[in-house]
Amino acid sequence: MTKNWTPTSWRGKPVKQMPFYPDAQALSDVEARLRTYPPLVFAGEARKLKKQLAAVSRGEGFLLQGGDCAESFAEHGADNIRDFFRVFLQMAVVLTFGASQPVVKIGRIAGQFAKPRSADTETKDGIELPVYRGDIINGTEFTEQARIPDPARQEMAYRQSAATLNLLRAFAQGGYANLENVNQWMLGFVSDSPQGERYGKLARRIADTMDFMRAVGITSETNAQLRETDFYTSHEALLLGYEEALTRVDSTSGDWYGTSGHMIWIGDRTRQADHAHVEYCRGIKNPLGLKCGPTLEPDDLIRLIDLLNPANEAGRLTLIARFGHDKVGDHLPKLIRAVQKEGRNVVWSCDPMHGNTITANGYKTRPFDRILKEVESFFAVHHAEGTYPGGIHIEMTGKNVTECTGGARAISADDLSDRYHTHCDPRLNADQALELAFLVAELLKK
Ligand code: PEP
Ligand code: MN
Repeated sequence: MTKNWTPTSWRGKPVKQMPFYPDAQALSDVEARLRTYPPLVFAGEARKLKKQLAAVSRGEGFLLQGGDCAESFAEHGADNIRDFFRVFLQMAVVLTFGASQPVVKIGRIAGQFAKPRSADTETKDGIELPVYRGDIINGTEFTEQARIPDPARQEMAYRQSAATLNLLRAFAQGGYANLENVNQWMLGFVSDSPQGERYGKLARRIADTMDFMRAVGITSETNAQLRETDFYTSHEALLLGYEEALTRVDSTSGDWYGTSGHMIWIGDRTRQADHAHVEYCRGIKNPLGLKCGPTLEPDDLIRLIDLLNPANEAGRLTLIARFGHDKVGDHLPKLIRAVQKEGRNVVWSCDPMHGNTITANGYKTRPFDRILKEVESFFAVHHAEGTYPGGIHIEMTGKNVTECTGGARAISADDLSDRYHTHCDPRLNADQALELAFLVAELLKK
C-alpha cells in the first residue's frame, strides 16, 4: 500500500486541466454508477505488461505505443479499429525484424478520450466558447450547449472502451494477428502505396521463414507465439473522477490498480509533483508514462521518479520525451544524465509528435521530416550517452488521412484540407506510420 494514498486522495490537491461540471449531482451519480461497472482490464495483464517493459528498460525489447490523439464517439466503427490494428501490427513486424527483438505493443486506444488544452476558450467569427476537451467531457460542435461538460459522456466513453477492447482482444488472440497472415495484412494498401511495396517484400521474407518453420514442425497450431500477440491499451489519465471510479483492489495481491487501461500516462501539462494527477498515479500499480517536455528540469524529474517509482521497479515508469526536433539536444542529455547518476530504472521513449506542431493554411499539422528528425536525435543522444532508446510514442491512424505534411507521398500544406479528420492533433496516416517504422528499424540496427 502506498503511504497516505487512497483512490480519492487526489481530491485534496491542486489540479490543472479538469473540467467544471455545472451539474454536480449528475456527475456524482455517474461516478457512483461507474464504480459498480466491471473493470476494463485486469491487474494480471498490467503486471505482465510491466514485466515486458522491464525487459525494454534493460534493452531487451522495443516499445511501440500509438493511436489517435483523441478517440471520438462518431468514429467508432469496426473498420477504424481494424485499420488501426493492421497498420500497428505491420509496424510491429517491421520493428521486430529490424531490431531482432520483441516489440511491446501498446495502443493509445480504448480510453484515449480526455484532452489537455493550451487555452480554456477558442474564438471563431468573434464568438468565444469554452474549448473542446475530448468526447468524454464535451462536444466538438461550436455551440455553447455542446461545450458544457456533460457527465453522461463518461458512461459513453466507458462503453465504447469496452467494445473497442473486446474487438482488439479478438484481433490479438482470435487469429487475425497470426503471423501466418503477414501477407493478408497487406490488403489494406492501395496498389500505388510506396510503403506497401516495401512491406510486401518484408512480408514475403517472413512468409518464407514461416514455410521453413512449418517444414521443421513449428506451426501456429502448436505455437501460441506465432498465433497470438499481446496487445495493451493506454491513455492519458486526465479525467481523474473517471479514473478513480475504475480504480479497484486486485484480489490476488491486495494492491490498487487502475482498470481503465493497462498503462496510463501523465501529460506534460499536469505533471506538477504536488498536484492531483501525480497524486492519483503514484498509488496505482499499473505501468505509468510521464511526458517530459522542454520545461522539465533534471531535479523535477528525479523528484517525480521518487514519487512515482520509489522502489525503483523496472517497467513501472516510461519517460516519454517530447521536446521538438530542434530541442532534443538541449534537453534530453541532462535528463538522461540525472537518471543515470541516480541509478533509476526507466524506459526511455520518444514522442516525436507534440513538440513539432505548426499551423499551415489554418490547419494544425506536423511536418514528417521534423518528426523523423526528432526520432533520429533521440537515438543519437542515447547512443552518445550509452543509454538505450527504448521506444516510440506516436499519433497515428490506419486511415489515409492528410493531417501531417510530407512523407513519401509528399503531402503538401494545400493537401491538408482533403482528408483532415482528427478531433484534436494531426496524426500520421497509414503510409507515414509505416515509413516511420522502417526508418526506426534502420536506427535500431545501428
Ligand atoms: C497527447 O499525448 O495528446 C498530449 C497532449 O501530449 P503532451 O502531454 O505531451 O502535450
Ligand atoms: Mn495529441
